[in-house]
Amino acid sequence: MLEVSGLSHTFQSGTEQSHVLVDINFTVNKGEIVALLGSSGSGKSTLLNLMAGLMKPTTGSILIAGQPIERMSENKLAEFRRHHIGFIFQSYELISHLTVRENVELPLVFQGIKPSERKDRAKALLAQVGLAEKTELFPSQLSGGQQQRVSIARSLITRPAIVFADEPTGNLDTKTESEIIDLLLNLNRTLDITFIIVTHEREVAGRTQRVIQLRDGKLVEENEDGDEESVSYADESAAAAEPAS
Ligand code: ADP
Ligand code: MG
Repeated sequence: MLEVSGLSHTFQSGTEQSHVLVDINFTVNKGEIVALLGSSGSGKSTLLNLMAGLMKPTTGSILIAGQPIERMSENKLAEFRRHHIGFIFQSYELISHLTVRENVELPLVFQGIKPSERKDRAKALLAQVGLAEKTELFPSQLSGGQQQRVSIARSLITRPAIVFADEPTGNLDTKTESEIIDLLLNLNRTLDITFIIVTHEREVAGRTQRVIQLRDGKLVEENEDGDEESVSYADESAAAAEPAS
C-alpha cells in the first residue's frame, strides 16, 4: 500500500542545512494501522506530509498503491490525493460556516458527486463515527472530540486507500483521546482502511499493531518485545504473504 525508499529531506534556512530525514525505508501493507512515534521536532510531520504528497522530498521515492507520488505533476497529484489519500489534522480544520454534514460532503463536491448521493454517504459515515444526531449542527456546537470525529468522517468519505493522521488526539483530554483511538482502530478493522498515525505519546502508539519511531532523522522499528531494530525493508514476510496492492 505504501512503500518509502531512500527518502531524505533537508531544510535550508539561510546557509544552515538541517537533515531532518535521512535514508528512510519502510513498507506498510494494506489494512495495517501503524503509529509513527517521535519526540517534538523529530520530523514526524515532515515525513507524514511527504507521504501524503503535501511536500516533495529532497531525494527518494514514495509509492502509494503502486504509484510514485513524488514524480507526479501537480495536477495529477492533486487528483490522486482527492481520490486515494485521506488526512486528519490535530486541529480538525473544519469549515465553520458549513454544517457537520456539509463538511463531510466537501471532498465529494470536488469529485463532482451529485448532492443526493453525497448526503447519503455523509450521513452513513457520520452515523458510523457516532454523530448521527449531529449532522445539521455547526462545528462550533460540538466538543473537540466530536469535531475530530467529523474530521475523521471527512477523511474517509472518498474511500481512500490510506489515511494519514498528524497527532489526531493532540488537542484532546486523555479520555477523549482514548475514544478517538478506539474509533480509528474500529474503522481500521471494519473498513480495512490503512492508517498511519503520528503521535509523540508512547501510550497512544502502543495501542496500534505496529510502531515505527523517528530518532535523529532515522527510523527504528520496535519488535513485539518492545526492542528496537533499524528498519530496512520492513516486514518482507508479511509482504510476501499478501498480494501486493
Ligand atoms: P515533528 O512533527 O516531529 O514535531 P517536524 O517534522 O514538524 O517535527 O519538524 C522537524 C524539524 O524540521 C524541526 O527541527 C523543524 O524546525 C524543521 N522544519 C519543519 N518544517 C520546516 C520548514 N518548512 N523549514 C525549515 N525547517 C523546518
Ligand atoms: Mg508535528
